[in-house]
Amino acid sequence: MCLEEMIQGNESLQKECTSESTDEEDGILEEVMAFADFYPTEDNQKLHHEMLQDKARNVAYRSAIMQNHQHIQDKVVLDVGCGTGILSMMSVKHGKASKVFAVEASGFAEHTQTLIEANGMSDKIQVFDGKIESVQLPHKVDLIISEWMGTFLLFEWMIESVIFARDHWLNDGGVVWPSHAGVYLVPCCAGELYKNKVSFWESVEDFDFSSLVPLAKDEFFSSPLYNHVMKQEDSLATPQQVFQLNMKTVTRQDLEEVSHTFHFTISKAGTMHGFASWFQVDFAGFPVNSKPFVFLNTGPDYPLTHWKQTLFMMDSPITVEQGDTVEGAITMTRNKEWRRHLEVHLALSVSSVSGQNAKTFTKLFPIWR
Ligand code: SAH
Repeated sequence: MCLEEMIQGNESLQKECTSESTDEEDGILEEVMAFADFYPTEDNQKLHHEMLQDKARNVAYRSAIMQNHQHIQDKVVLDVGCGTGILSMMSVKHGKASKVFAVEASGFAEHTQTLIEANGMSDKIQVFDGKIESVQLPHKVDLIISEWMGTFLLFEWMIESVIFARDHWLNDGGVVWPSHAGVYLVPCCAGELYKNKVSFWESVEDFDFSSLVPLAKDEFFSSPLYNHVMKQEDSLATPQQVFQLNMKTVTRQDLEEVSHTFHFTISKAGTMHGFASWFQVDFAGFPVNSKPFVFLNTGPDYPLTHWKQTLFMMDSPITVEQGDTVEGAITMTRNKEWRRHLEVHLALSVSSVSGQNAKTFTKLFPIWR
């Protein structure tokens, strides 16, 4: 689910957790107890509508199940945050799972039950109305399936619920889907946006409005643009993966701060306005799961998804030539107080092939606070 939907769906985004418990489990529980309010109950057909309309998303999950049906057949599956139950139903229909535990924290669970009955699957799919952290499942499972990804992959931090499910309910040797999740970054041009939001103020009706330029930059570019649709030709270099999570081993602590250095070589002359980012999740993990495995990539080289791309605009554009280098580091830090939020720090230096002095930038972007 993407950020825009979440915010529209719940205007009163509350501080989901303020207290850090010394007890790890209590800490998770406290944080997640507050999470139900984060997902609205009345309006969420709209949210499910948007997710279910996302063909690339649905196809990735369905293909992963179909291509691995021999491993899923007669196995027990746990669907964490089942929503409408779509992934549970796919697991039964295409994977021939013997049993699916479908867990949903929001009030939507009552509709899920009806949908499962309407599709004649109530003997196979058992719906649990509650948070994964508080429901008691009959026994452990062979496969955990979940669609937990948010803006910049991690926003909302539903990943924690999947980690909790893995640590409590996955059999030894079981599989978590998606199995890996990686974030990508590329320096890019966003000329139209810059023109529209910033250059616009330089002259309005032939009057000099340029004193408003700093205000415009602050208003539009101090946070990332969550709903950016990037064209392939906006890329100024080859995208790089800046971090990857292995869902079988990642811990909550690993996600408090993630840092990575990058080195891009500009492949096309142009104006660099900032960086675009997106994620890919993979569906690997079964013993004979040979590559290429199924993946879902939300970048500009693949069909558009409801996550679109995230754009980090620098305050001032910079002209780059082929061969220039963009070096630096990206650090993602989880917000210590607003635990479902994070901030992204970019520090970089652009060096030109022609030997001019390198230009350096640093900027901190909150997502969402
Ligand atoms: N699996 C569905 C819905 C994905 S959206 C689909 O693919 O279409 C994520 C869902 O997870 C939401 O319905 C949300 O209410 C639910 N959810 C979030 N945190 C949860 C938790 N801790 N326990 C159970 N459900 C959770």
